[in-house]
Amino acid sequence: MEKSKQRLLDERYLRMARIWAENSYCTRRQVGALIVRGDAIISDGYNGTPSGFENICEDEDNRTKPYVLHAEANAITKVAKSNNSSFGATLYVTASPCIECSKLIIQAGIRRVVYSEHYRSADGIELLQKAGIEVEYIGFADDKEIKD
Ligand SMILES: [Zn+2]
Repeated sequence: MEKSKQRLLDERYLRMARIWAENSYCTRRQVGALIVRGDAIISDGYNGTPSGFENICEDEDNRTKPYVLHAEANAITKVAKSNNSSFGATLYVTASPCIECSKLIIQAGIRRVVYSEHYRSADGIELLQKAGIEVEYIGFADDKEIKD
């Protein structure tokens, strides 16, 4: 079956989000996010420490530091600093949002979330769905091709 134009776009943005995740200096896990409104990428993010903190996500026991921001939170707060609005936008993220990020996604007025990897619990996804946000999973088969 031929893929819809939206599906092809979704796959491209997800691939871009995955490439963007490579910017993360976190060693345990690298996550990337993009916020798209209309046909423009209005924000991007990857998991990492806040501005002004050293670029190390893990403590000496290899646990993620409590002040590390998730990719979605970084992308949403970047919009907050800009003249753009995330209202009605789509968030592309390489891993399913956690419950904390899902709260931010809801409050930021994001309408749709497309993600590619299941992360720990489904609490975040369930919260998004409860809020009426369209949630879509598109899995990666490999770098070039995306599984249906
Ligand atoms: Zn999160």
